Amino acid sequence: MIKWKNRSEFWITGAKLADPESRKIRAGSIHINNGRIEEVVWKKSIETDLEIFDAEGYLVAPGFIDIHTHLRDPGFEDKEIIATGTAAAAAGGYTSIACMANTNPAIDEPSVVRYILDKNREAGETRLYVIAAVTKGLDGKEINEFHLLKEAGAIALSDDGNFITNSKVMRSALEYAGLLGLPIISHCEDPDLAGDGLMNEGYYSTKLGFSGIPAVSEEIAVARDIALAKLTGSRLHIAHVSTAGSVELIREAKKKGIPVTAEVTPHHLTMDDSLLQEYDRNLKVNPPLRSLEDIKALKKALKNGTVDCIATDHAPHTEIDKQVEFNFAPPGMIGLQTAFSHLYTELVLSGELELIDLVRMMTSAPAKTLGIPGGTLETGVQADLVVIDLDAEWIFNGKVNRSKSFNTPLADRSFNGHVQGTFLAGKWKQMV
Ligand SMILES: [Zn+2]
Repeated sequence: MIKWKNRSEFWITGAKLADPESRKIRAGSIHINNGRIEEVVWKKSIETDLEIFDAEGYLVAPGFIDIHTHLRDPGFEDKEIIATGTAAAAAGGYTSIACMANTNPAIDEPSVVRYILDKNREAGETRLYVIAAVTKGLDGKEINEFHLLKEAGAIALSDDGNFITNSKVMRSALEYAGLLGLPIISHCEDPDLAGDGLMNEGYYSTKLGFSGIPAVSEEIAVARDIALAKLTGSRLHIAHVSTAGSVELIREAKKKGIPVTAEVTPHHLTMDDSLLQEYDRNLKVNPPLRSLEDIKALKKALKNGTVDCIATDHAPHTEIDKQVEFNFAPPGMIGLQTAFSHLYTELVLSGELELIDLVRMMTSAPAKTLGIPGGTLETGVQADLVVIDLDAEWIFNGKVNRSKSFNTPLADRSFNGHVQGTFLAGKWKQMV
């Protein structure tokens, strides 16, 4: 337990600082003044008359940034509300998150954007950015008034949950969004090919007798959207990339200079379709958990920059929602509170990923991807930081869960690396 009384000017000393920009982790101290980073000194301790936040033994990094969260508010407040979703995010070390538009009503009017931002001002535990819908009520047909949504505060556009099947609509949306400098985030999945599939199409879907969602249903959609990004020159971001074939398409597109970026979720990096043999409804996600070969390709893509960042796709559902036959269970799992510890335990401690690269993929990389502030230790930026005890082990159970829902296959799992708290504009929030 860290004891700390908030004050406007102080130093954090004794920590190991993770600096995503220089890709270095080393001893350092941070001078914070009036909610901003005044100075970073690469020394473990400093001489000062100011108060000192002693972070000896901890890792201090820029606060994490999630660009793909479902907060369910308005409309599905039984699953999550802004207060609980942002609390789960803060407990996971996030200081900024961006929420998706598939609420009810969808975020397709400026008033809904403002409603969400107002609610976060009242009850939010993190900064919140709003991703507005591309089409009216996510119908895939009629494009929204992007400039009004932008004016109200939207920072990107997405019909996430649905693929915009009409290529002409997607073309117009990219053209319009491009004029305003707003990226479009695409949920790439051909709905006809995906059909009523329940899991990845392959050996295990055959074995379990489940209808499958083929990898190509994603890849066809990725290929089309890349072609449209090339045609329009507008910024396209591919949500939750899950197949080796998609990685290949994105790699080629980037080589040609097409303005495309991509994200991968913690679960698509760590869980494969063989796990579905447990029939755990919390493993039903969209896109589905894929094969070990896909996971291998995703990890490689993360390291070589084909995939730009990690995003959670935090998708809360109530116990009742999930306590139905596998066929009827809605897809999705929560992920904000476990993302860092899960990937630290599975990828960093196993030697597959450098700690600084995990930090970068959760800070400066997502910030750059959507063009939002934060994610660095630069002088003058908002002092949004996370303090982590890398040696601490903890168990993710219902008692510590801050989300309103607990649909996770990681229940009662033990993790290494525990977020102790965050600074939001220099204000400490104790998490454990
Ligand atoms: Zn999606």
